[in-house]
Amino acid sequence: MAEATPRSVLVTGGNKGIGLAIARRFLAAGDLVTVTYRSEAPAGDEGFLSVRCDVTDAQEVDQAFKEAEAAHGPVTVLVANAGTSQDRLLVRMSEADFTSVIDTNLTGAFRVARRAVRGMLRERHGRIVLISSTAALHGHPGQTNYAAAKAGLVGFARSLTQELGPRDITCNVVAPGLIETDMTRALTEEQRKELLRQTPAGRPAHPEEVADAVAFLAGAGSVRGAVIPVDGGAGLGH
Ligand code: NDP
Repeated sequence: MAEATPRSVLVTGGNKGIGLAIARRFLAAGDLVTVTYRSEAPAGDEGFLSVRCDVTDAQEVDQAFKEAEAAHGPVTVLVANAGTSQDRLLVRMSEADFTSVIDTNLTGAFRVARRAVRGMLRERHGRIVLISSTAALHGHPGQTNYAAAKAGLVGFARSLTQELGPRDITCNVVAPGLIETDMTRALTEEQRKELLRQTPAGRPAHPEEVADAVAFLAGAGSVRGAVIPVDGGAGLGH
């Protein structure tokens, strides 16, 4: 059987955690992978191109795509994974706590998706996967900012799906539950236990399991505007 042509894949926030697992997954499939990082480039030489990019800056986003395109050709798979949290109860949440989380998680995804779609329209092909969270679907105390941003990604993906209509460009959402990464290290043992109590699998999902869902969506042409939870059953499919 002929080998599949390598795809040019860009993963934002691919220097660690879930993004790194996703990047490794595409690399293992033989794709040409660019990861963006904000603070520190990924350690070691794993075979992907690393580009510095803060997703709150449209010029840095444009530059990252230019570097990915120069090295690997037009980006046909985008994984908007970069994200941050700033948890506080609403009464103590400053406007900056709210807007900075929206700017990275929601507007950041808008910036990278808009930049990616330009090239995908020319290629008449593209796969966009947005990394949301189960917080988007169920909410979580202390996460009005984060849940609003992550829920925004669902409306974004479904609107873009309709805009792109018959073109071979898809946009889908993956919604992880609890995953052990730097982002969740601040949880107390009690919070972790409570989250797992609500999870039929009784364990956190692994970053590689999120990568499985992303890899599926990157290969699927007729799955569009979907939200796929990777949460050990915590939301029973929602
Ligand atoms: P990490 O904190 O390990 O990784 C977050 C990544 O996003 C890092 O690469 C970080 O870069 C990058 N990032 C943050 N802000 C920006 C920015 N302004 N511009 C560019 N990159 C940025 O967390 P996870 O791997 O857990 O998170 C990955 C995604 O998964 C996020 O969108 C998160 O919301 C989502 N998620 C995570 C869950 C979990 O339980 N861990 C559950 C549900 C969703 P840097 O290292 O430079 O800060």
